[in-house]
Amino acid sequence: MIIAADDIVDWVSDRGDLLIAAWTPQIATMTDWELPYAEALAGELHDGMVTSLLRGGTESNFLNLVARSNTGLDPRTERDLAERFFGVTLKLARAAHRHAQDGKATALPFKYGTIVGDARTDPSHLPLADVLLPREHPFWTRWQPPFGMDCRCGTIGMTNGQLARSGRSITPDEALPAIEAQLRDTWPAEFRPLLDFRQPLATATPTQPAITLSQQQLDDILSAFRPDTD
Ligand SMILES: [Zn+2]
Repeated sequence: MIIAADDIVDWVSDRGDLLIAAWTPQIATMTDWELPYAEALAGELHDGMVTSLLRGGTESNFLNLVARSNTGLDPRTERDLAERFFGVTLKLARAAHRHAQDGKATALPFKYGTIVGDARTDPSHLPLADVLLPREHPFWTRWQPPFGMDCRCGTIGMTNGQLARSGRSITPDEALPAIEAQLRDTWPAEFRPLLDFRQPLATATPTQPAITLSQQQLDDILSAFRPDTD
């Protein structure tokens, strides 16, 4: 799927505060810096990424920009950090965009999970390969990859014809609990607000127990608030 560069730039620039908040603790860990310094660097990296993307730039443009910015880090740490910032941020932006497209792709009523399946694949993500469901199935709002910073899992849409020709069948709902029990979400907590391509879980509103009062009970309660007229 081709993603318009504008959509990526918009996503990255609109989410500046969330991205900086997510990256600050990561940068503090990678650099051993105090949080305010890490936050300032997160802000600089975010600015640099937006600038690079606006210029139609690639990762190497971004890395050059960072290399010229005198972060004070040793070059190796600086490069590792900049690569991770760019790669993971772009991954989130692409995933968000893909999810938005999936929602509109009525020609692709089904989708299935894809895994890379090499030595770097998190074994807890492997069951995603067994999932083929209607694109509107609630499974996808719970488990829309990527599942973590290093996750390379994804989804691919399918037409009715492709499904028929694939020889695959839709994953039965009964199989989902066992699959979901194995899947693991490994995003650091600070990144979760950025996963807006996963619909938030239905907010658990505390259910008020239904109380049925008799007319007498109601009168007793109300009379307690009534000024004494005697
Ligand atoms: Zn994965």
